[in-house]
Amino acid sequence: MAGESKRMPDKKGRFGPYGGRYVPETVIYALDELERCYRQFKKDRRFRSELKGLLADFVGRPTPLYYAERLTAFLKGPEIYFKREDLNHTGAHKINNTVGQILLAQRMGKKRIIAETGAGQHGLATATVCARFGMSCIVYMGTEDMKRQKPNVEKMRLLGAKVVPVTSGSATLKDATSEALRDWVTNVRSTFYVLGSVVGPHPYPMIVRDFQTIIGRETRRQSLRLFKTPPDAIIACVGGGSNALGIFADFLKDDQVKLIGVEAAGYGLTSGQHAAPLAKGKPGVLHGAFSYLIYDDDGQVILPHSISAGLDYPGVGPEHSLLKDSGRVTYGTVTDAEALRAFEQVSRLEGIIPALETSHALAWLMKHKRKFKKNEKIVVCLSGRGDKDMPIVASAGMLDE
Ligand SMILES: *Cc1c(COP(=O)(O)O)cnc(C)c1O
Repeated sequence: MAGESKRMPDKKGRFGPYGGRYVPETVIYALDELERCYRQFKKDRRFRSELKGLLADFVGRPTPLYYAERLTAFLKGPEIYFKREDLNHTGAHKINNTVGQILLAQRMGKKRIIAETGAGQHGLATATVCARFGMSCIVYMGTEDMKRQKPNVEKMRLLGAKVVPVTSGSATLKDATSEALRDWVTNVRSTFYVLGSVVGPHPYPMIVRDFQTIIGRETRRQSLRLFKTPPDAIIACVGGGSNALGIFADFLKDDQVKLIGVEAAGYGLTSGQHAAPLAKGKPGVLHGAFSYLIYDDDGQVILPHSISAGLDYPGVGPEHSLLKDSGRVTYGTVTDAEALRAFEQVSRLEGIIPALETSHALAWLMKHKRKFKKNEKIVVCLSGRGDKDMPIVASAGMLDE
């Protein structure tokens, strides 16, 4: 697919020192099979045209690049544009990747689909494509997240998926991912694991990135039409990092385009309760890959915290670890409270309710608007819509009279 990073990862699935495959032998076989099929089908004309058709008519692409006029006026700084991934079917960027992976599963003859989910957005996007292709779908989800994201659990069940509650550990995304990997080890021949972000063992970080690069390729085309140049800066939130890499990948070679990834600082970076491995972590191994990670002196993964379930993960994709070390992408952080404020302000200024994840990117921009000149064009990746977050903001007291 055009727009993918040509060099990365290397043959061993490494982004510099990061990435790789830290998994049992049975899974190595499945990862090799997946990589072989992916490399074959990404060049296949029929595969590409089927994917293109689904992205257009099922997902609703291309998504608009929208001028946020009142937010721009309010900030009295640079010109702000939203790349509207919130308008995708199922309400976030996740579906770009799941339609791609379900086509791969179909080509590989696998009928049993498993997935992990945190916010429920990836589970929902997977359940959606499984319904569309008549495949059986099992979604692992922490019981803590099932409580926080009840509407998504109900939607997945309506679509025919089996949602399996995970009670181990913190009963959130990390634990659901471990459980999905365990299932895959046991059922590797019949099962396709649809992974939701640019994390996990090679080739997943590459495959998920490639399926998400449609965001950046459209952004380039739309920017050239609107501004006659690429944007001056692009800002995206980083959980595992798939919406960020999706919009960044096509611009990595354009050194003049500033790229900013925003992690969740939760209750604050010094509180110990955050989800900011790039800011506060060290490299280590989680879920089959070597990457920045938050863990304590005994090597135990620290329980992350973010008000946004989609960012509440102790690790980050290996390519982001390399991009941090190389300095090509700048990474910042935003607290729960700052994200909530941006959530409300953008809802009222633009008539667009952003996801709490996305609100981190918006809050970073609002906090750092002075870094930009008046006529600069800034694109924020509006990764998803905030409908799913209404119970959370209500319980945070935002909607009280
Ligand atoms: C899942 C999710 C994220 C975080 O995942 P990435 O892989 O970092 O993109 C961000 N925004 C929304 C709306 C999500 O659903």
